Amino acid sequence: MSIFENTERTEVSQLGEFGLIDLIKKSFPLKNSSSLLGIGDDTAVLDYGNKKTLVTKDLLTEGIHFNLMYSPLKHLGYKAVAVNLSDICAMNAIPEHIAVGLAFSNRFSLDAIEELYEGIKLACERYNIDLIGGDTTSSASGLFISVTALGAADEDKTCYRNGAHKGDLICVSGDLGGAYAGLLVLERERKVFEVDPNAKIDLTESEYVIERQLKPEPRVDIVKMLEELDIKPSSMIDISDGLASELLHICTQSGVGCRIMEDKVPIDYQTDEIMKEFGIPPITAALNGGEDYELLFTIKQDDYEKIKSRSEVSVIGYITEPNEGYQLITKDDKMFEITAQGWDHLKK
Ligand code: ADP
Ligand code: MG
Repeated sequence: MSIFENTERTEVSQLGEFGLIDLIKKSFPLKNSSSLLGIGDDTAVLDYGNKKTLVTKDLLTEGIHFNLMYSPLKHLGYKAVAVNLSDICAMNAIPEHIAVGLAFSNRFSLDAIEELYEGIKLACERYNIDLIGGDTTSSASGLFISVTALGAADEDKTCYRNGAHKGDLICVSGDLGGAYAGLLVLERERKVFEVDPNAKIDLTESEYVIERQLKPEPRVDIVKMLEELDIKPSSMIDISDGLASELLHICTQSGVGCRIMEDKVPIDYQTDEIMKEFGIPPITAALNGGEDYELLFTIKQDDYEKIKSRSEVSVIGYITEPNEGYQLITKDDKMFEITAQGWDHLKK
């Protein structure tokens, strides 16, 4: 039996911790030659040859980072993996491995854990990732998921936040603000449902933004594209807290200023419509909404010719002298100072 074949509600306690781990192990055969040993011993053993190892970890907490009312467990598993892979991508590297730490209460049956792992599995398949270990424990209440991702890169290809120089072009992948628009819609529908559980909820008009919120994709494709185009970004970061906050990280760590143009910031049509419905300027969702998991990077001006025809990347501005500050030029040609409002979970 694999973890996905179980059909009735089974308590995890019936299986026991080791039974569960065994089930997980059987469901995740190793794919990468760098995975010498996966689940089953005290540690995994990995071999990245002569490359450098990159490691990252995120912890997701029920009620803070996700709400199980509208976040299906499968999506949650997928997202928990995706956000970590995104961090490896942000170093201009390809992720290869994850370890998953889980704590859950007896509210969660084996079927629920199975659903979570279905999402984890889907992300592992899509991005060619091996699950090589983890930890399983119980919690007094709620669900905690901690994912550690690892990847490898040549040292001279790794991109840090501190490498941007005056004159570099500022680029972003995909489009921004969608995940925040999706969150607004889901929160609105949750409130409707709380008042009237029989209310008809139609989300077809918001499918794209809801998907952006519930199922972000790490931009492994952009890392591969940059390699193909022979571009090494001078700096890079992934957009988990909104464009403003990430741009300021690059600028402060690189000791530079920036100027971006509102009309160049990529915003999807559906995001635009929904933000207007909520009476919030769409650019605010792009700047201060969170969780788009696109890549923000800077390139030398000489690389512009190589990238300009790629529709998955937008050039939104350029790096300036530090004393010029952090500027946003609006569509009506006014200048605003960019400040980071970020997505601070601790402030909520
Ligand atoms: P230890 O006592 O050394 O922490 P465990 O009994 O917790 O060992 O884990 C046994 C093996 O199962 C280890 O290889 C560990 O990495 C793996 N493992 C434990 N929990 C999970 C999980 N939730 N997902 C994937 N692998 C896991
Ligand atoms: Mg353990």
